[in-house]
Order: sequence, then structure tokens, then C-alpha cells
Amino acid sequence: MALGIDVGGSKILAITIRNGKISQEWKFPTKDGRVANTIRKIVEESGEREKIGIGVPCYIRDGICVKAPHISELTGMALKKIIPDAIYMNDCTAMAYGEYYLRDEKHDPLLLVALGTGVGAGLVLRGLPYVGRGSAMEIGHIKKFSNLECQCGKRGCLETILGGRYANTRKMYEQAVKGDAQALKFFQEYGKKLAEGLAPAIQLLDPEIVVIGGSVSSAYPYFMPSFLEELEALLSYITPDDIIFERAKSPHSGALGAALIAEQRLL
Ligand SMILES: [Zn+2]
Repeated sequence: MALGIDVGGSKILAITIRNGKISQEWKFPTKDGRVANTIRKIVEESGEREKIGIGVPCYIRDGICVKAPHISELTGMALKKIIPDAIYMNDCTAMAYGEYYLRDEKHDPLLLVALGTGVGAGLVLRGLPYVGRGSAMEIGHIKKFSNLECQCGKRGCLETILGGRYANTRKMYEQAVKGDAQALKFFQEYGKKLAEGLAPAIQLLDPEIVVIGGSVSSAYPYFMPSFLEELEALLSYITPDDIIFERAKSPHSGALGAALIAEQRLL
């Protein structure tokens, strides 16, 4: 058995797995100031003591959560203080590995992009999660996309034009479903900006598959056509036709990936 906990900006999802299948599940709202206690409660209830993987929306370096833009409680914390024996990772790393596991065919490299409150990414390379020295793939904080102040403390990050915290993606999605012209135009532009943000990563990593997850991925059909068109223009040697693009398969992929990474000691 292994326990995986996915700490998101709005909810904490946890699962235990036995033989790769979900055996127990927990869901709590994320309350800043009570996140560590919620994690401890889940661990206690699960009975798991050895194989615990925890995905956190943090920039991690040397086991310290350097910055959790959406959860101030975790910022500056040595994560081992929460549960000493757990393996901690960026939430998008966990999600990328969960999505890799859920596909029968092991497309590799797998680049996962999470479009939610903020914008994050994760990478599976040669079958393993890639984290650099802690939290590689912080694609949301690549700059020069706007003049807006970002949660990271700097200006102009990709996240400031694509993240739900800044762009009103939820309302736009509701309107787009009804066929609202302005909302459809919004997602057409959104796709173009997403291509500008992802093209350098795709050119560098040459992924076999790009998985789009996060809450904004519900609008996938609305932003993908302009995304692919713009991407075609921005890439050299690689064409989008040569890459598989898919939506994330499961809302549990973050918790699942965290559990599997802990079970197999991949980090
Ligand atoms: Zn930023």
C-alpha cells in the first residue's frame, strides 16, 4: 500500500493505492493555516507509515518549500516537519507521473501542463519524474508576457495571462459553452498565448506527448485549434502533428502520481 496526497490551491485530495488501484479516498478544502494538520490527519487515518508521497504547490529546494504562492502557511517551511518520512514533490511533478502511469503506452518524454489558478508543469523523462534540483519546469514564471505583478513577486509571468487568478477563465468557459462570441474569442487568444508559453519548452524537450490538465483544461476544445496553429508557426524542425496532445485523464492523477513515486522511491 502507498498513500498519495495532492495539496491543491482549493482542495486536498488523497488516496491510498493497493496494486496500482485506489483503495481509499479523502477530500478536504484547502484552508491556509490548516494544511499541515489536514495532511497529518489523513496520514493517521490511512494507517500508512512508510510509503507516503505528498505533492505541494510549492517551489521546493533542499526539502524547503521556498515559496507556495497560494498557501502562505507552507512558505519557508522544512516540509519534513509535517510528516518526517514522506517524499515531497511539486504538485505538477506528481500529476505528470500519474498521467504517465495511466496511459498503457508509455509516451516519453511526457510534458504535463496544468492550467489552473496558476500555471505549472511537470516532466517525465525516461520513465522518471524530472525535478532538477527540486522544482524544475516552473513554466508559469517565464516572463515578458505582460506587465502585471505575479504571486512570485516579479512581473510579466506567463501565469499572469493564463492563470485563473488573473484571467477570468471560469466565467469565460461558462460563456463559451453557450456560444458567446466574446468568450470564444477569449479562448482563441488564450490558445495563442499558451503556444507562445509552451513553444520554448516543446522546442527544448522534444516531448512525445503534451498533457493539458488543471481546471482551465475544460475549455480544451475552445483553445486548442488556435494553440496548434500558433505552435506550428513557433516551432522549427518539430511540427505539432508529430506530438500527441491530450487532456489529463483523471482528477486523481496528482494523488496517484505522489503515491506511486513514494511506493517506488522514484525521488
Ligand atoms: Zn511569477
